[in-house]
Formats: sequence, C-alpha cells, structure tokens
Amino acid sequence: MATVAEQLRRADSLTPVSESARLDTELLLCHTLQCNRTYLYTWPEKDLTPAQIAQFDALLQRRQSGEPIAYILGQQEFWSLPLAVSPATLIPRADTETLVEWVLSLPLNGSHQLLDLGTGTGAIALALAQERPQWQLTGVDISDRAVALARANATSLKISNCEFIEGNWFNPVQGRKFTVIVSNPPYIDPKDPHLHQGDVRFEPHSALIADDQGLADLRFIAERARTHLLPSGWLCMEHGYDQAQIVQQILTDLGYCAVGSERDLGGQLRVTFG
Ligand code: GLN
Repeated sequence: MATVAEQLRRADSLTPVSESARLDTELLLCHTLQCNRTYLYTWPEKDLTPAQIAQFDALLQRRQSGEPIAYILGQQEFWSLPLAVSPATLIPRADTETLVEWVLSLPLNGSHQLLDLGTGTGAIALALAQERPQWQLTGVDISDRAVALARANATSLKISNCEFIEGNWFNPVQGRKFTVIVSNPPYIDPKDPHLHQGDVRFEPHSALIADDQGLADLRFIAERARTHLLPSGWLCMEHGYDQAQIVQQILTDLGYCAVGSERDLGGQLRVTFG
C-alpha cells in the first residue's frame, strides 16, 4: 500500500488522538511529499518512495503520541500568516484573532506605538503590523527562544514595523508609552484538568498557567499597563471563557473606563478591554 489514496486511509489511526484526523493526515502527507492538499486529490494513484513512506510513518507516529500537528509541521497559520512555531511557544489559536480584530476596529489614524506582552511566535504583533504599516509594534517575551522565533517570523514575512525584545513583561519598555497594549498572557488555573488533555500537554506551561486561579498575570498587566498607556490609550487582553466578568471587575477597580468584552468564534466572551 504505497499510493497517496492508500496512505490517506491511515487517518483512522489518528482518530483516538485527534478531532481532525483526516485533515492532520493530509497535512502530514503534504509535508512528506512537499506538495499542497490539491495535489493529493489530483494524483491519488501516485506511488510513494520507500523513503517517503518511512518519513510519513514517523510523522504519523508522532501525531499518534499526541504531539500537536503545528509542532510536527513547525508551522501554524494565524491571520492568514504562515508562522513558524516551536515547542518554546504557545501555538497561535484562531480564537486570538478576536483580539486582533478588536484592535483593528479602533478609530486610530496615523502612526501609533503598540505593545504586545508575551508575544510568543509574534502572532498578534505581526498580524497588527501587517494590517497597519504606519503603526510601530513592540513584542516582548521572557523566552529568548520565543523572541528568536518571532524575529525570524518577521523576517520571513518581510514585516519591518515590528520589533521583538526579550524581557519580563514591562521591564524592557521602561519609560515608554503606548496607544494600545495587548496581551494573550497565561490564564489557566494550575488545577484545571484541561492541562492534561490534547495539545496543551506539549505547550510550555509558562505560556499557559497563572496563579490566583489563572488571574495573576492578567491582574499584574492591568495594574502596570496604566503607567505605560497614553491618555485615551487602550488595554486589551485575552482570557479564559469564564473570566470576562472578573477581568472587567479588575479593570474597573483599577480605574479603567469604557470596559467591555468581545466574543470569540465559539461565542464566548474571550477578550476584555478598557
Ligand atoms: N486558549 C488557550 C487554551 O485554552 C490558552 C491560552 C493562554 O493561556 N493564553 O488552550
């Protein structure tokens, strides 16, 4: 069994670990054959070489062990941008595009400085930078590997209005002020059973887990952002589906006004701003 069509039938072996077994199999086969998905359906009778079969076997096995497809492929699309990802960073999620959309809906003309805290792959900062060439984006991450990856993404996407700096939250931007500060910080409660399921098992805990029922970093950023926002600037943070009310309360107690939340693709209030 060496044809493309026959290899695709091996998707069954992924159903125990993946809700998208067929798509995963197609992507792994495309990765092996260095082709796009259309090719698989145009040339179903095409034979794989023994080396290609061996490579495809190895990729399937990694996926069977639960490793996220994005880490196996080393790539994940976000805001239609093909981003390099590595186990040093969270895998960008489609839900986070809600945050990007909200920032783009702000009535901001001309040039502005924006800050993305815990930028990881650089996904949010790069999406905003590409949409608004007149803005200057700064992405900060405590992981040197994340910063190297984000810089590589900026280079390969030819996005030049975005810088990435290594450091702990606001430390590398002391004395600087921004029109908008965004973050998708860690917000999962350390006791959340969700941490033992699916892709998150392979992602860096430093990007996922926060003390104080997942609120510690959201609270810290909201407190400190006040000294880094220009008058009428905006803070906008992603959080868990059940944290909107408490994050709104935190922002209101800290003196933010015009506080509100936006829904993600699943209809959950996932982003809160003020
Ligand atoms: N949304 C991610 C998840 O629930 C978590 C992202 C984060 O902690 N910032 O898997």
